[in-house]
Amino acid sequence: MEAIYGIHLRNRIRLLWVCMAVCALSSCRRGKPPPVDGSSAYRFLVAQCEMGPRYPGSDNHKRLQRYLVRRLEEFGANVSLQPFEGILTTGDTLHLVNIIGNYNLGARKRVLLGAHYDTRPYADRDPEPGNRSKPIPGANDGGSGVAVLLEVARMLARAEPPVGVDIVFFDGEDYGREGVPRDYILGSTYFADHLKGYRPYAVIIVDMVGERDAAIPMEGFSKAASSALLEELFAIAGRLGLSTFSREDGVSVIDDHLPFIQRGLPAVDLIDFEYPFWHTLDDTPDKCSAGSLGDVGRVLMEYIWQQE
Ligand SMILES: [Zn+2]
Repeated sequence: MEAIYGIHLRNRIRLLWVCMAVCALSSCRRGKPPPVDGSSAYRFLVAQCEMGPRYPGSDNHKRLQRYLVRRLEEFGANVSLQPFEGILTTGDTLHLVNIIGNYNLGARKRVLLGAHYDTRPYADRDPEPGNRSKPIPGANDGGSGVAVLLEVARMLARAEPPVGVDIVFFDGEDYGREGVPRDYILGSTYFADHLKGYRPYAVIIVDMVGERDAAIPMEGFSKAASSALLEELFAIAGRLGLSTFSREDGVSVIDDHLPFIQRGLPAVDLIDFEYPFWHTLDDTPDKCSAGSLGDVGRVLMEYIWQQE
């Protein structure tokens, strides 16, 4: 304090210029990201659930595809579709489509944000045996990840991100039968098999992130394979004081991050797998909250904005 008061006016002006230059070179150049609105994300979750179950082959699945394309276009993304056939171990074929929305296409440095949009065709974890062949509503499992990424897209429409952002809604994540891992994560596997030189420097998957009072731990495969990226995300959550993230070790989950990890890309899965309504008919919007969705969206936006 003392020293500053002692500085000549001309030197004080010089000091001010130096401060401004340092600021321009650091993160304050781009300022803060546009503010994520958890209530808006929650409305995206409800909108999906109002369509009904959205498993591959159903009319609701096609309806959701149209909805996602429309929203991404409305939010200024460069939208493309990646149709493919998912062949199950049973020999059945699913007609699936990954939906892609790009932002800041000119940037070489790119982040992939992914979530599966299909919902499970059977509630095989429902306590009521009679319900286990019915499709799940998929509020948290399917709906929440999409809801967060739609809200992120809505914000990216307001300000161009400092790096390229590719939002990918994966299809065919949750069709497999328990014990047959090959029939899960069909969309992300197909996508990762057809990268054609595309090398995102970070892949962040969001899945089951909407539970009321969610406590997202550090998922096992993410921590083992991509600890630096995971640490960066949890550091942001810590800095923002978000209770939706909990620095504990979580279980390892077969999810859409795995095909990217297997191809040597840094990939993490933000997921709170401790969800009592997982794969039941009770996976409904009332189990989810705007607060959890908003916190996850905030971490993603902060992460994007702190990149150069
Ligand atoms: Zn699931």
